[in-house]
Amino acid sequence: MRREQKHPKSKHRVEIPDDLAAFLRDVHELIETGDDSATIESDDLLQCETAYGGLIETDGNEYGFTYFPEKGVRHKWELELDVHDIANISEGSQTTLTLWGCQSDDCRCMFSDPDELCFYCDYIEDDHFGNFSIRDALPRLTAQGIEGITDQSSRDDVISILGLPDEAGGGVKGFAGFNFPWIKYHRDTCQIHFGFSKSGGRVKTVNFLPRDWKPAVY
Ligand SMILES: [Zn+2]
Repeated sequence: MRREQKHPKSKHRVEIPDDLAAFLRDVHELIETGDDSATIESDDLLQCETAYGGLIETDGNEYGFTYFPEKGVRHKWELELDVHDIANISEGSQTTLTLWGCQSDDCRCMFSDPDELCFYCDYIEDDHFGNFSIRDALPRLTAQGIEGITDQSSRDDVISILGLPDEAGGGVKGFAGFNFPWIKYHRDTCQIHFGFSKSGGRVKTVNFLPRDWKPAVY
């Protein structure tokens, strides 16, 4: 499971590369002529070989762009520019951008917004969380101070060790067919969800969820 862990970014003033300036001149032209690609909200209606983007909000004047400063290299600039910035850049009265860059040497991504999260730097793999087979879950249960559960444990065995669960479900035929029984405990550090093979069957999977995790509501 990937978890957000934001790192501070450092401020840079960078020269606008020629290809980006040329693209923004085209964008300016499309804005001036009221072209659909510049007036419809989108992520990518405006495109060139090294950048893509579009109007962030209908009737707004802010545009979002993703620009790849070097061909074939993953790092990118995430830009937010309004119609005035785009006009100034296309007229040549603005030749630099203030951007916030990742501090890790091997990233080089830059952002207009200092609070933007970098896909590469601002998330960590957290192997404490996730859905595990019972075998892979055993050491993680031990790490949580839970002893006595094995791959032979049934629902009743787990309950005799951990007490009555905070939530339980499954074991009945629902709209989507038979639901396997499960029980869930809310603990100080995480939620632990045990899934069983069938009623009275053995524990098959253990899912460790963040403490404040909630199911998605549709
Ligand atoms: Zn980064």
